Amino acid sequence: MSNVTIVTGGSRGIGAATAKLLGRAGHAVCVNYVSDADAANAVVAEIKGAGGRAIAVQADTADEAAVVQMFETVDKELGPLTGLVNNAGINGRRSRVDELSADEIRKLLDINVTGCIVCAREAVKRMSTKHGGQGGAIVNVSSGSALLGNPGIGVLYAVSKGALNSLTNGLSQEVAGEGIRVNTVAPGMTKTDMPGADRIAEQAKKIPMGRVAEPDEIAEVIAFLLSEKASYMAGANLRVGGGRL
Ligand code: NAP
Repeated sequence: MSNVTIVTGGSRGIGAATAKLLGRAGHAVCVNYVSDADAANAVVAEIKGAGGRAIAVQADTADEAAVVQMFETVDKELGPLTGLVNNAGINGRRSRVDELSADEIRKLLDINVTGCIVCAREAVKRMSTKHGGQGGAIVNVSSGSALLGNPGIGVLYAVSKGALNSLTNGLSQEVAGEGIRVNTVAPGMTKTDMPGADRIAEQAKKIPMGRVAEPDEIAEVIAFLLSEKASYMAGANLRVGGGRL
């Protein structure tokens, strides 16, 4: 069976590294993005240049209709889905809880939580043997923040990643008997556009390895969980944090 995988937020950072790695491993990849078409097209060009198959699909993962349309595009252009990397996410504003408005709470949770659940729903509808599918794998990209809590800088973000951990926990049990493995990767601070240079320097001091992760170091673990090498793994939460708990 050939692998067809959607990487949400595949245009930059961890998602882009994952999409390229999966492309090299023979997956046909849907590189999802929300606004940076040039970055998404560059990832697709690199995959195709190496002999792989890929398409870029614009969809805001917080927009249910756009997500459904993205999955339908993949059905038509790449074939039966075998994998989903629920990677798209935002950090939100650096703030304490007593500075948050309900609107910004909803906006972050719409992308980081609702979007991932809706993407998981569409993936299960296609991959579950209960629905006539051939099985597959989902990797939710959480964060060490879910356990660290991010006091003073981003409790809301930590809450959203705690929700993703619960999604893996519950959904993995719901669909393990239907051929779908659901797992989590919980990266530590990673060198992407998301944290910004100041936070990277600040956080590196707290990491036992003394440095933040490269996107490829997270992508490798995501690709492993999608692969048959992880055939007995379901409901796992793999921390990739340079020794930080
Ligand atoms: P990034 O460099 O900021 O890239 C974010 C990606 O998500 C981009 O491809 C962006 O698309 C896409 N995106 C954002 N909002 C979207 C939406 N509503 N719909 C669809 N796509 C959307 O982020 P990153 O650092 O690689 O983070 C990737 C994941 O890892 C996130 O879930 C993040 O929470 C998690 N994580 C990151 C770190 C870290 O230190 N970097 C640590 C732990 C966990 P455009 O290019 O179109 O904007």
